[in-house]
Amino acid sequence: DRRSIAIDGPAGAGKSTVAKLVAQRLKLIYIDTGAMYRAITLKALREKLDLQDQMSLTQLAKETTIQLVAGLQQRVLLDGEDVTEEIRSPEVTGQVSTVAQIVGVRDVMVKQQRQMAKEFGVVMDGRDIGTVVLPDAGAKFFLTASAEERACRRAKELVDKGYTIDIKKLTKEIEERDYMDSNRAVSPLVPAQDAITIDSSGMTVEEVVTTIIALIEK
Ligand code: C5P
Repeated sequence: DRRSIAIDGPAGAGKSTVAKLVAQRLKLIYIDTGAMYRAITLKALREKLDLQDQMSLTQLAKETTIQLVAGLQQRVLLDGEDVTEEIRSPEVTGQVSTVAQIVGVRDVMVKQQRQMAKEFGVVMDGRDIGTVVLPDAGAKFFLTASAEERACRRAKELVDKGYTIDIKKLTKEIEERDYMDSNRAVSPLVPAQDAITIDSSGMTVEEVVTTIIALIEK
């Protein structure tokens, strides 16, 4: 499907910033799939569920409504409640990869993501978009950056949101999350065979965006 674009990669590679701008310029809808896994993780934490319990987490995913509201700043609604800020908390970030390992949870999310891509032209960012969610995407990118640079970007994002950060801890957190995402049994984080890898270390956002658009329009 030429109207859908997949952007995958590890944490802090700049996927969401880049994907948003590419969507804006190509008049497509930006879909942040990480926000969906974060929202379900937030709900599980609030309900104090055992995050290893695949059955209850799958059940929870089935009975939860997650909505992504497009706009200048995309809002995330969890059963109607705006949780846009809360899903970025360190607690959710620390647990989301555990929840994202559960096959049943992924099945529910992937179904919804495919539905969105069917209805709109999308730029979708995540970990398994090019490999699993949209194997027929019109263009696939794997966006990476050096570990140092990814930690710095995440640090800046968090500081901007008012969190106090410890750069060493943050680096460790990112490494752990990438390790879990890359080594899980289902839909691990790997570049799709037909994805174009872009290492954004030392590139500005604008450079990455124009590179991607040029490749799409080629
Ligand atoms: O993109 P973001 O950092 O918000 O994603 C949070 C987590 O959600 C990832 O670390 C990963 O565990 C999970 N995720 C996933 N598949 C996706 C998107 C996110 O497993 N398509």
